[in-house]
Amino acid sequence: MYSFKKCFSTAMSVSILLATLSANAFPVSAGQTLLDAGFESGLDGFGARAAESVERVNTKAYEGSYSLLVSNRGNAWNGAAASLGSDWKAGETYAFSCAVYQASGETVDMKLSLQYNDGSGDNWVQIAEGPVSSDKWTILSNDKYMIPAGAASCVLYVETAESLCDFYVDSIYSEIPSAEPPKPTFSRGDVNHDGGIDKKDVADLTGWLLTKGGDSVNLDTSDMDKDGILTAADLSLLRQFFIYPELTRTTTTTTVTTTTTTTTAPPVNNEVWPELKPGDKWYNTADVSWIPAGKKTVALSFDDGPCPNGENYGIRIQQALNKQGFHATFFYWGERIPGHESEILSAEAGGHEVANHTWNHPDNYNHYDAAGVLSQYTRVKDKLNDILGVKRDYLLRLPYLNNSTTISSTLPVPFPNCGINTADYEPGHTAQQTISTIQQAAQNGSLNGKVVLMHEVYEETAKAVESLAPWLAQNGYVVCTVSEMFKYNGKDMYAGRTYDSCF
Ligand SMILES: [Zn+2]
Repeated sequence: MYSFKKCFSTAMSVSILLATLSANAFPVSAGQTLLDAGFESGLDGFGARAAESVERVNTKAYEGSYSLLVSNRGNAWNGAAASLGSDWKAGETYAFSCAVYQASGETVDMKLSLQYNDGSGDNWVQIAEGPVSSDKWTILSNDKYMIPAGAASCVLYVETAESLCDFYVDSIYSEIPSAEPPKPTFSRGDVNHDGGIDKKDVADLTGWLLTKGGDSVNLDTSDMDKDGILTAADLSLLRQFFIYPELTRTTTTTTVTTTTTTTTAPPVNNEVWPELKPGDKWYNTADVSWIPAGKKTVALSFDDGPCPNGENYGIRIQQALNKQGFHATFFYWGERIPGHESEILSAEAGGHEVANHTWNHPDNYNHYDAAGVLSQYTRVKDKLNDILGVKRDYLLRLPYLNNSTTISSTLPVPFPNCGINTADYEPGHTAQQTISTIQQAAQNGSLNGKVVLMHEVYEETAKAVESLAPWLAQNGYVVCTVSEMFKYNGKDMYAGRTYDSCF
């Protein structure tokens, strides 16, 4: 709205002979006043830009008794001016203000301006501007004005946008802005900078990874592995930190370190899991602190995902469980994973247990030799570790529940089996049939502690879970992962053994 350039179009030839302002003999610092011109005892370094009149008067003052009256102005850019000395440095930020007064009877647009030379000529920029009502002192101010980089021969001055009216100036002030209050420091893992590390951080980072969006995610505290980018590995580490909060105390250094590994402590973070042999006790790292005491628990488990054709049944099942704060175990079919990594990330982020269902779901796995058995397991393990950015082993659900002595004497993990078979894979099976199976087991007392066999690849199964999750919550059950169910009930699992129930 201000015809700013016009004001200066003829200003090139103005010569300025002004005292140079210099407030300090010593280096200046934050919060320090550099200029405080009240004109009580002199011109304080200010004078005219050209042929206008600039004089001290005691007929008007914003503070004290005196101000400067600028009159006989032939151009809008005529006004009180002073050269800024070496206290003001190009490229740095300063606060400026001044009080102005005019009595023209109309509102006049006025500016506190800066002239500087950039090496190729003079430039004029405004520091502050505003409408100034007649017969009223008005403050023009800018708390943070950066003097342009490369600026030299700086002159601070007061002018009008167009009017040639007389005006008064007083209390021209400049200081180095106070240092910014120190930014609060947030712990690694406090993704959203709300001061704590909790499920919201996990949810926010998950959302960011899935959509590559979201304002609440901060790189400085989300980049758990400090590699400069946010990946699933960061999410996985965040979940580990969340589960093992004591680790946050050891993370002030820039590398993720673990405390100690004793013979009994489970591996944490990115630590390589010690190789187990069949018969060894399984490392159960499940966090069961979220399950209230005295609850009946059931481990719903879902095979054969990710949904191979992009169906959303697996996600619907996760979401139905998430709504109740429940967790389940998902046994993933390796060759269905590529392209559906986000479903696995989503499961991990939701607190569900990611698990292994072999690479290509062989129907004769029980006839494989040891090398073949191990290869089917390891290929999925490596894939999941790659997606989640961890190095761990995963529970295995045997395809068709087919076991063999070769399998049980080869693989270093337990095999959750089938305590209750919903038979959701049978042709024509309905959601209601699955619901009835579970409700009857709950009512006859046989559901508590059971591993329930289900498949995420059927819409009827998703529908059943959407109905069962709230029903189970209302009936005193907590749906949890296989590992959580065993941990909560104080039961161990052993590598190479099958489990239908934790009891
Ligand atoms: Zn299967």
